[in-house]
Amino acid sequence: MNEGYIAKNLSRKAEDYLEAILNVTLEKGYARTKDVADQLSVSPSSVVEMFRKLDTLGLVEYRRYEGVVFRPEGQKIAEVIKYRHDTLKKFLLLIGVAERVAEADACFMEHELNPETVRRIRLFLETMDGDPSFCEQIQTEIDRRLQQKQSNSK
Ligand code: MN
Repeated sequence: MNEGYIAKNLSRKAEDYLEAILNVTLEKGYARTKDVADQLSVSPSSVVEMFRKLDTLGLVEYRRYEGVVFRPEGQKIAEVIKYRHDTLKKFLLLIGVAERVAEADACFMEHELNPETVRRIRLFLETMDGDPSFCEQIQTEIDRRLQQKQSNSK
């Protein structure tokens, strides 16, 4: 997986849609308008508008009343975004960020970070995977420092 592969200069919104299409496709085998709308908490008409745009860009094939299927280029981009999302979320969870915040922040960071940064975070996580007790030690230490700072500021 090449973390840096983003073929076109897509908007953040377009990348979010490709990621959502991938999530729905992985679950159901194809992406219907309604499912993508639910996933992104947007209206079906916004989804159709973006489906048409992504179709024009050659990233998906939009079929009216059905939804979309990926074209190879769109799938590749979606996989990179999802990979970045999963990597960043895992990192945020590791340092003790709450699930809901980690999910939202991963979605924010996934568009912006330098590929080299993502690669290094990935390797950091791989290193940590081999050492669960060190992982726990980091989390305990972060929590301890956090509590110390909070009680100092009282
Ligand atoms: Mn995301």
